[in-house]
Amino acid sequence: MKEFFGVQMPRLGFGLMRLPRLADGKTIDIEQTKRMTDMFIEAGLKYFDTAYVYEGSEEAARKALVERYPREDYYLTSKLNAGNWCVGSAEEAKRELEISLERTGAGYFDFYLLHALEKENLDNYENYGLWDFVREAKEKGLIRHFGFSFHDSPETLDAILTKHPEAEVVQLQINWADWNDPVVASRANYEVCVKHNKPVIVMEPIKGGTLANPPQGIADLFAKENPSASAASWAVRFAASLEQVMVVLSGMSNIPQMADNLSYMSEFTPLSGKEQAVIAKAQEILASIEQIPCTSCHYCTGGCPMNIKIPDIFGAMNRLLIYNNEADARRRYGNATADAGKASDCIHCLQCEDACPQHIQITQWLEKAAERLEA
Ligand code: SF4
Ligand code: SF4
Repeated sequence: MKEFFGVQMPRLGFGLMRLPRLADGKTIDIEQTKRMTDMFIEAGLKYFDTAYVYEGSEEAARKALVERYPREDYYLTSKLNAGNWCVGSAEEAKRELEISLERTGAGYFDFYLLHALEKENLDNYENYGLWDFVREAKEKGLIRHFGFSFHDSPETLDAILTKHPEAEVVQLQINWADWNDPVVASRANYEVCVKHNKPVIVMEPIKGGTLANPPQGIADLFAKENPSASAASWAVRFAASLEQVMVVLSGMSNIPQMADNLSYMSEFTPLSGKEQAVIAKAQEILASIEQIPCTSCHYCTGGCPMNIKIPDIFGAMNRLLIYNNEADARRRYGNATADAGKASDCIHCLQCEDACPQHIQITQWLEKAAERLEA
């Protein structure tokens, strides 16, 4: 453990974005979430991450964590989203803090982040006075530390940190697959945080679960090096091995995922030089395969007038692109479109592309999905 903000911070955080669901596929499974929370806390870990826009997540945090543990036993982070798709005024944006505190019942947030900053929405955070708002919330004791999560270029990140040196932490998408990716720019964004001496919270270390089941060549490579280590463990340990990383969030969805994460993160060992070389080889293999860089964040789906399950369709397409498994891709596509819009229903309104933090050309990929998976 390393010390951040005067406390020893365990390197693994529980991301409450992809919590387990009941059989209806929608309702959060609170009983399983409670068991996962217990396992996490019993392992000596304490960082939990939610957000105003994660549907049902803040309420689940209250039931599984806040109502069952003393406040000093955990750190809880939430986030304020001022994107156009989420709010239309400064008042609406500022009210999110009050609502998040009500939903969680936590009394205060240990960390509070301006959510998913990128070039297109920066003006909202400035014009709505949200930097002053979080500073004042800290003075009032409603939050302990503030910062922002970020999905854009290193130049934009550098500009924000230069303008707002008061930001205390930065949450970045970092994983071995996106380390040198020109769009996500994990490495370059991490280096900007090092330059500004900001602790980094890592999101998407397993790339929305994708790196838990990597292409066969990479799975074989990992298994050869260490037959008992999961592919997910390579991904989480890669992010956690970075010197300036404060905590790595894993959006765990069931008890086996929690158990696997705890098996190597309750007592964390950084990757050795030999293991780093294995990751470099995996990066080489992945770079040679085309795929859609969707992290399943679902920011694109809420406003889709055709009710198209975009991330599910992209998940199906990636089975085709990465694994060349057409039967599995068609099965997944069938599930994704059974009670929702098909890829070919897209009317090109582009709402989804405005909302996508990964800047994916969603409409073009939907056209390809229609061509490959609907015929
Ligand atoms: S562009 Fe297509 S997929 Fe995107 S929101 Fe509009 S209809 Fe939905
Ligand atoms: S397409 Fe973009 S916004 Fe939609 S789920 Fe994937 S990464 Fe998120």
